[in-house]
Amino acid sequence: MSQTTTAIPAFDHLPEVNALGAAALQRLSDEWLRDPLAKRHGVKQITIKEDRGRTLIGDVAFEVLDDPSSDSLEPYTLHFPVDDLVLYIIERGVADPEVRLRLKQIVRARRERSGEAYQRSKSVAPRRLFIRCKNPQCLRIFETQYTAFPGRKLEGTFEPFACPACGTTNPVLPDDFFPLDCPEEKPVDLKGASGENEKWFSIVIPWRANVFSQIAPLVGRINDAEFEGYSVETVLFLGPQGSSSMPLGRLYFARRDQSFNKVFREETGTWEEVRHLATKKTLYELADFSVLAALKIEPLANEGAEAER
Ligand SMILES: [Zn+2]
Repeated sequence: MSQTTTAIPAFDHLPEVNALGAAALQRLSDEWLRDPLAKRHGVKQITIKEDRGRTLIGDVAFEVLDDPSSDSLEPYTLHFPVDDLVLYIIERGVADPEVRLRLKQIVRARRERSGEAYQRSKSVAPRRLFIRCKNPQCLRIFETQYTAFPGRKLEGTFEPFACPACGTTNPVLPDDFFPLDCPEEKPVDLKGASGENEKWFSIVIPWRANVFSQIAPLVGRINDAEFEGYSVETVLFLGPQGSSSMPLGRLYFARRDQSFNKVFREETGTWEEVRHLATKKTLYELADFSVLAALKIEPLANEGAEAER
């Protein structure tokens, strides 16, 4: 139901407001939530933070009041009228009328100078929800027709769905829906050492408890057979990106046209295999990547998921 913004240093230029302290600012912010303006903007919760004598708005949660059509994945803008909250706090929190007037003038002057500083907005987009077959031998993932804003859950009761892959009938609870929340990012440990023609790719896997121990021995190895359509020795497993709080993770790979065990020799103009003098070992050890291939998930578009609200 809620979206959060990043911390807002709303009281930095208002020493008397800052001096009220986090507890008093929290109480006044809670009161402001009942203000019609807060309600109109869907502001549901404000969290005041204290950081070494400085108070800030740490977090703002919104309730999205009018759900844009459930099929729309267009961004939706949430407005947080920070200046109105600050003026409210000044009005009720500062006793001295002269100080109050001065502080309000500061707020208004700053608003005129930079509207952005005192009027925060945030664009959020609902995300498509997926569901997974509960048969441990299957665990296939299916796209559903549902969407939800980040942090918001579906409500209601849902019909069981029959997995089109294995035929298992799955009972469906609101918690079973999840967004495909593992964006692909350029891996940080992509080594430039192997040459400029190195590229990378990733695959999506279910992030189960035992996955890490399964894949850890393969990190830093290269493929001993064709993998994802690339020939032997041309794919280097960089490692996983995922966490136990997410149902899905990504495995990252570097790839290139030549074997990772070959180095370009300027003198001969060719790619040649190199081995360590002492150990006679190649640069990278080969490994069987079939366990990684077996983990790979390819979400099926709009199959199954006969869940009804
Ligand atoms: Zn299944």
